[in-house]
Amino acid sequence: MRKKTMSAAFTALCFTAFGLVLLSLSIGILGIGGTDIISDGRISAAVKLESESLSPEEEPQTGGENGTVSPSPPVILIDAGHGGEDGGAFSADGVLEKDLNLAMSRDVAALCLIFGIPYEMTRDEDVLLYDRYGELESYEGRKKSLDLKNRLRMAEELDTVLFLSIHMNKFPSEGVKGFQVYYSDNAADSRPLAESVQSFVKSHVQPYNERLPKSADSSIYLLKNINTTAILAECGFLSNVGEAAELNTPSYRMKLAASLFVPSAEYYVRCAAS
Ligand SMILES: [Zn+2]
Repeated sequence: MRKKTMSAAFTALCFTAFGLVLLSLSIGILGIGGTDIISDGRISAAVKLESESLSPEEEPQTGGENGTVSPSPPVILIDAGHGGEDGGAFSADGVLEKDLNLAMSRDVAALCLIFGIPYEMTRDEDVLLYDRYGELESYEGRKKSLDLKNRLRMAEELDTVLFLSIHMNKFPSEGVKGFQVYYSDNAADSRPLAESVQSFVKSHVQPYNERLPKSADSSIYLLKNINTTAILAECGFLSNVGEAAELNTPSYRMKLAASLFVPSAEYYVRCAAS
C-alpha cells in the first residue's frame, strides 16, 4: 500500500471529470460498448471512490513561492514487452508481439487517462530500452538483459504502485489459446490482483477460459526481481491462428485492455485512499 500524495489526488480529481465526459465516447469509438465491461459498474465505482476519497485540503500546492513543483504522483507503470530489434513472438501471418504489446499498452494508458489514474509507460515507441540511461559505450551482446534491467530500474525510480507488463504468448501446439496472468511473489497484493484480472477476462471476454493465475518463476526476470505489486499478462497465443486474428483487432484488444485496467484502477484507488 502507498500513501496518497496531494498531487496524485488532484490529478485524479481533474481527470475524473474529464473521464466521465469521454466515457460515453469511448463506448462507441473504442468498441467496448458491446461488452458488459462498462456496465458492470466497477469503473464507475472506482471513480466514485476516488472522488469521495478527496478533500479540499488535499489539493496540491502548485508553484509555491520558490516556484517549486509538486512531486510526481504514484503511478501504474505500463510495460509493453519487447520492442525494437526484439520482436518477441509472431503469428503465422507475420504480426509481431512487440507491436501488439505496444498497442494494448496504449489502450490501457488511454483508459488511465480517461479515468484519471496516473500512469507511465516503459516505452511508447518501437524501441528496446538497453540504452535508456546511456551509461555504456557498447551494448552489443547485452541488449536484452540491459533492456530488462532498465525496465526494472524505471519501476524502482518511479513511485510505482503497480507494474503491469503486457505480452503475447506462443506454443508449439496451435490449438492452445487463452489469456494468462502471472504474478510476482515479492509483494502480497500481486496474487489477488492477478486473480481479479484473470476472473474479469473470463467474465467479460473469454467465458471458456479456465486458466488460473500463475506464480512467476525465474524465467520471468521482471516479476522475479521487482519489489512492488506486479503482474504480467500473456494476452493470448499468436501461435493460434484464430486468437492471433482477434488480438490484431483493435476492438478485441480494447476488451482485454479494459479487463486489465479495471482491476488495476480499483487497486490504485484503494492504495491512494489508504
Ligand atoms: Zn513476450
